[in-house]
Amino acid sequence: MPLLLAAGAGLYAAGHYGRLQELVPARWNPWALPDPAEPPGWFTSWQLARLADDAPACLGWLERAGVAVSPVPDRDGPEPGCGLSGAATLNRSHLRYQSRVTATCPVLAGLVLYERHVLIPAAERHLGSKPVSVRHLGTYACRAVRTDRGEGGRRSQHATANAIDIAAITLADGRETVLARDWAEGDGAGPRALFWRDAHKGACGIFRTVLGPEYNALHRDHFHLDMARFGICR
Ligand SMILES: [Zn+2]
Repeated sequence: MPLLLAAGAGLYAAGHYGRLQELVPARWNPWALPDPAEPPGWFTSWQLARLADDAPACLGWLERAGVAVSPVPDRDGPEPGCGLSGAATLNRSHLRYQSRVTATCPVLAGLVLYERHVLIPAAERHLGSKPVSVRHLGTYACRAVRTDRGEGGRRSQHATANAIDIAAITLADGRETVLARDWAEGDGAGPRALFWRDAHKGACGIFRTVLGPEYNALHRDHFHLDMARFGICR
């Protein structure tokens, strides 16, 4: 075991500093960027969250992933701790969004992987149709974290557009599945429920924080997905 840890630490250091970066596959190197074509791995959410420090690298990654975005100028919000920094608007991606998505670049990068590796295969698997569009409830809102006991003092990740709330998906055959209605379909075993459960589990491999209907009543109708440095999956 100590040997394994030492080997792991060695690889970690080599991945960060050395020319070995090229020898360690991206999915095993926390300092690399994910390959958009590869399913998410252990380090994916960490790799994406780290892109917050490097806007050009993040925008370049989105371009290589085949999506079109427009960078948004940085601006302060109405209160301290709010505002946009390194954000962009999603113009074209694998799926359409029913309202505009302006979010931090790491959130957009997460969405691209989420569409391709989670939402599309999960819908095909459980619902027999490809998703075409996503309904979301917002990305940017200058506010504190909401809890069952009211607003806490800590700023929400939404205060910097580092989050998105996903509520429903429309399929190519015209059907819509709504999280609030379908999460518990058939006691959680119906096809729509299975779709949303896979969508929840898959989100946890991409985003830092994933909160769904089983976290608390405030998340009854959406998945909160964010790219905070430290996160949870509930
Ligand atoms: Zn949220």
